Amino acid sequence: FSSVELTQHYLDRIKQLDGNYNSYITVTAEQALAQAQAADQARSQGEHALLSGIPIAHKDIFCTSGVKTSCGSKMLDNFIAPYDATVIEKFQQAGAVSLGKTNMDEFAMGSSNESSFYGPVKNPWNTDTVPGGSSGGSAAAVAAQLAPAATGTDTGGSIRQPAALCGITGLKPTYGRVSRFGMIAFASSLDQAGPMTRSAEDAALLMNVMAGLDEKDSTSADKAVPDYCADLNQDLTGMTIGLPKEYFGKGLNAEIEHSVQAAIKEYENLGATVKEISLPHTELAVPCYYIIAPSEASANLSRFDGVRYGYRCEDPEDLYDLYTRSRAEGFGDEVKRRILVGTYALSAGFYDAYYKKAQQIRRLIKNDFVNAFKEVDIIMGPTTPNPAFNLGEKSNDPVTMYLEDIYTLSVNLAGLPGMSIPAGFADNKPTGLQLIGNYFEEARLLNAAHRFQ
Ligand code: GLN
Repeated sequence: FSSVELTQHYLDRIKQLDGNYNSYITVTAEQALAQAQAADQARSQGEHALLSGIPIAHKDIFCTSGVKTSCGSKMLDNFIAPYDATVIEKFQQAGAVSLGKTNMDEFAMGSSNESSFYGPVKNPWNTDTVPGGSSGGSAAAVAAQLAPAATGTDTGGSIRQPAALCGITGLKPTYGRVSRFGMIAFASSLDQAGPMTRSAEDAALLMNVMAGLDEKDSTSADKAVPDYCADLNQDLTGMTIGLPKEYFGKGLNAEIEHSVQAAIKEYENLGATVKEISLPHTELAVPCYYIIAPSEASANLSRFDGVRYGYRCEDPEDLYDLYTRSRAEGFGDEVKRRILVGTYALSAGFYDAYYKKAQQIRRLIKNDFVNAFKEVDIIMGPTTPNPAFNLGEKSNDPVTMYLEDIYTLSVNLAGLPGMSIPAGFADNKPTGLQLIGNYFEEARLLNAAHRFQ
């Protein structure tokens, strides 16, 4: 069948079903069909780009030329990006068709997709529950087959946690593996884009498109990109899996623990050996992240001042009123909370006590992993401590919400690649197995994930 037929199939499903899930903020039907037509034509002329004619959905954090790029915020509800993010450009060059932009927590701050200006996303497995966040729209769209694959971003778990809660596959690459150019910044030293798909094989295909050095992002890595599809079937005999004892302690849902242990057994059957390891600073990940991420966010979000682009309040009295009222009216509660925490942590007099201390702890967390990878090839554990919770259940309790990220945050603080793959069910809800690799070992993660699936 043609790309036009395939694209139309997904557009029809979105029209019929997305009223139940709210996974898209913007659907670009006309543009998608035009891109699909162009792909069909190119193929009939013998051109074969890597993803020629394949529909993809993009998290609404990636700037897309001529299309609204809201980042889930009222602040950018009127923002039409004047250029494409590098990730978007790469998908275009690979011949992919963009179906539209997916819903997300406001400025990617959240773990439940409830902080979006466009309303919460619902988990397709059980619409009373959250899909996870912040890439919840991408996860729900892939889970409900409203897109075959999607992009997401992960600052502290936002690809892996919604992938786990929606029963799909998600990969956060090594920091620097994928360009951040044109991706609206939340916490620049942690943000990283990656694929959200139905299988490891699809994730490998998307990584072949997304990864690579970009002169427009000085933190992107100057390191050759392997063919991520090449080693998917490698034998796992002799692979050593590290199980951090801190990831199986109190606070972990018993059924998730059961699913994860069953998955590990499966790896032993595939020839891997298992070793208990320790990541002793794990319990400091939440406080450390919730200083560093808001600090960077408070700096990054200072550009939204109502002057250059984005939301502007009505009838400002003077410049000060324009700044303060635009920000007060344009940002939601969670974003304001982060800006306040970050500004406080960075202010003179508190810097040493909070930000500097958090940076020192970040190094200790990183060293835990560096030491662990001297003994093991891959680390495994649960992606989340609990399965999907009910909408509204944690929205008035930010600290409980923050604790849902306990197993994912350290990976960003260390800059390592991490992946979540479906590993059965807990309380009849999907659960994720998390795979953590050494720097730039995405191919190893994809291989291990593929052999399991
Ligand atoms: N849930 C975490 C937060 O709220 C992580 C979000 C993310 O990875 N973008 O900051």
